[in-house]
Amino acid sequence: MHKNDLPTSWPILAIDFDGVLHSYISGWKGPRTITDAPIAGAIEWLKSLIPDQDDAFAPRHYYFDVQIFSSRARHFGGRAAMRRWLLRHGLTRGELESIRFPRLKPPSILLIDDRALRFDGTFPTVEQMRDFRPYRVGTMQPAPPTRATGIDFLAPKDGPIVEGLEAIEVVYARNQSEYNPLRSLISTDGTGRAVSRWTLTAEQRVAIAQGNDIFLELMTFHQPLQPIRIFLAGDTNEDRESLLSLLEG
Ligand SMILES: [Mg+2]
Repeated sequence: MHKNDLPTSWPILAIDFDGVLHSYISGWKGPRTITDAPIAGAIEWLKSLIPDQDDAFAPRHYYFDVQIFSSRARHFGGRAAMRRWLLRHGLTRGELESIRFPRLKPPSILLIDDRALRFDGTFPTVEQMRDFRPYRVGTMQPAPPTRATGIDFLAPKDGPIVEGLEAIEVVYARNQSEYNPLRSLISTDGTGRAVSRWTLTAEQRVAIAQGNDIFLELMTFHQPLQPIRIFLAGDTNEDRESLLSLLEG
């Protein structure tokens, strides 16, 4: 049986690639670059859904027309990259023959995706959509060993510290070539507090989940140490309100 002979009546199961099969710890590196390991169980699960076209004795109890639906397929070399990755991680060529990689959204009976909400008749609010977070491997049991070794510096968030608060933002070291520019929100009271925001990479988040702590380095130029605090916050309305009241002193 060849993929072209698949009964057209088989229901299409559409499976997202990044974040469902590919662990995607490193984030997007380009349509042909697939650097991370499979999510635990992904390959075994995929194999259980598809026949091996080269195995004449493979049981014929399959139910789905499995299609991996990823935006990678629309880029030159993206489908080849996904095929190579699947072969590298244990699919046989015969199994690969059973999978299609559509460029356009297939008429699937089910889409498995890490960035979707199941519509149940209630339209999600702007907040629910804005605060939506996809599943990420950092929360999974057998996380691949991606713990950062040695010194791994955090980087300031790229873009405004908090959307909508740009008016009270300043950029330190904007034109100082020896330092990287740092956006900060400045308090309105006499303390002149500057709040910056540091975004962790996916690897750094995993490293923290695995026991790494945050270290703070500060150049004092041998002057008395200025009071320092470190805190966690996100992008919810509540976080924004807390931040504003903090800055008001
Ligand atoms: Mg995804």
